[in-house]
Amino acid sequence: MNSAADIWNEVLKMMRNDLTETAISTWFEDCCAIELQNNRFFIHQPSEFKKQTIESRFIGTIKSALGELFSSDIEVVILDDEELKAMTEAADDSEYLYVDDYTFDNFVVGNSNKFAHAAAVAVGEGREKHGYNPLFIYGESGLGKTHLLHAIRHSISRKFPHYKIVYVKGEEFLNEFIIALQKKRMDEFRDKYRVADLFLIDDIQFIAGKIETQEEFFNTFNSLYEHGKQIVFTSDRPPSEIHRLEDRLRTRFESGLLADIQPPDDALRVAIIRNKAEQLGVIIPEDVINYIAENLNSNVRQLEGAVKMIIAYRDIMDENITVESVKQRLKDMFKGSKDTLPTTDTIIEETARYYALTPDDLRSQSRIRNTALARQIAMYLIRKLTNLSLKETGAAFERDHTTVINSIDRVESRLKDPNDATEFSNVIRDITSNINNTKA
Ligand code: ADP
Ligand code: MG
Repeated sequence: MNSAADIWNEVLKMMRNDLTETAISTWFEDCCAIELQNNRFFIHQPSEFKKQTIESRFIGTIKSALGELFSSDIEVVILDDEELKAMTEAADDSEYLYVDDYTFDNFVVGNSNKFAHAAAVAVGEGREKHGYNPLFIYGESGLGKTHLLHAIRHSISRKFPHYKIVYVKGEEFLNEFIIALQKKRMDEFRDKYRVADLFLIDDIQFIAGKIETQEEFFNTFNSLYEHGKQIVFTSDRPPSEIHRLEDRLRTRFESGLLADIQPPDDALRVAIIRNKAEQLGVIIPEDVINYIAENLNSNVRQLEGAVKMIIAYRDIMDENITVESVKQRLKDMFKGSKDTLPTTDTIIEETARYYALTPDDLRSQSRIRNTALARQIAMYLIRKLTNLSLKETGAAFERDHTTVINSIDRVESRLKDPNDATEFSNVIRDITSNINNTKA
């Protein structure tokens, strides 16, 4: 979903009637649309000079374009780096409050998640530690892993108020570890984690590849485990597919209970939409519910976004919730709107072209270095720029999803390699911009 960007593209298109191409590129090229919220449209412009110029010369033009698009008066706010940061932090805070809603009561159970849900409930009741320790919940993004983790936290804190619960995201654990190492505060770091009665780690895949962190993590894990403390992980893939994960850690992760969450089926999607609308106190007509469920079918976060968006339009624009209005409003979120996303073919073509190869080369079995590299980049970009799953991405090359994971890994590690990152990220940027230009 990229609605702010789409709105902005429309605005730019309309402004081209009044302004020259040079003016557009000079003042707006590095603008980035952030969001449309409560009748205010937020745009980020990093340069203070350009921000001021836009505010003094162009804000009226932008406003009238928005007015035409939405038939409503919309205020335009240009944010500099600092303001953007403040706004994102405020949003993060509210997201944090929001995790209070991540309880078992608010979790809708269906075929695709009932096993993970049952395991989480058992852990949340403090039942049966042995078979369920550690509990490792995995599945693609937006399917409810973080929600279950917080639900366990709520449930345990209610039942065992004296328990010390430690919740950490994989990437935070990593950052804290690095800082502790630099500042020689390892003891503090250890104390923080080793006192836990319940240890929850969200998105553990982030610690892969960082050897020292894994060492420390292994020790923390053992110490908790030996003291009979419950540990729960989430990850976007099973332990067997987390690359550059030490074998002994992998073995530990697999030694408890592995529970996967699959994308929701029809019945669950309908139930979730109904549930989200109910929570927000709105009744959505049956045919609209079915329309959303049929058209947004991979991910719960998207469903939730759709419900919120149509309610927002209803509130801001006084719009009736009908299939027609929803179709219009959610166009960019729906799979029918492939035009806003590049196609696999375009990505493969453009990546091949960059390396003076053909799309068939990329789809072939060739292991010639340049071809293999181009193929990895194409896979990486397909995952980044489209909604295709790992499996579907692999299928475009007649390969399986493990090959895709490997390729993404290679590309990501080059993007992180200090000797390589600058040049390589330029390559990725160039190809991406070629793809986007083809699309337009
Ligand atoms: P993940 O951690 O797997 O990426 P999240 O737990 O963040 O996904 O879920 C994304 C959003 O979808 C959250 O707002 C969450 O509350 C909601 N969600 C996911 N699964 C369900 C479900 N089964 N019932 C209700 N809400 C759900
Ligand atoms: Mg999550």
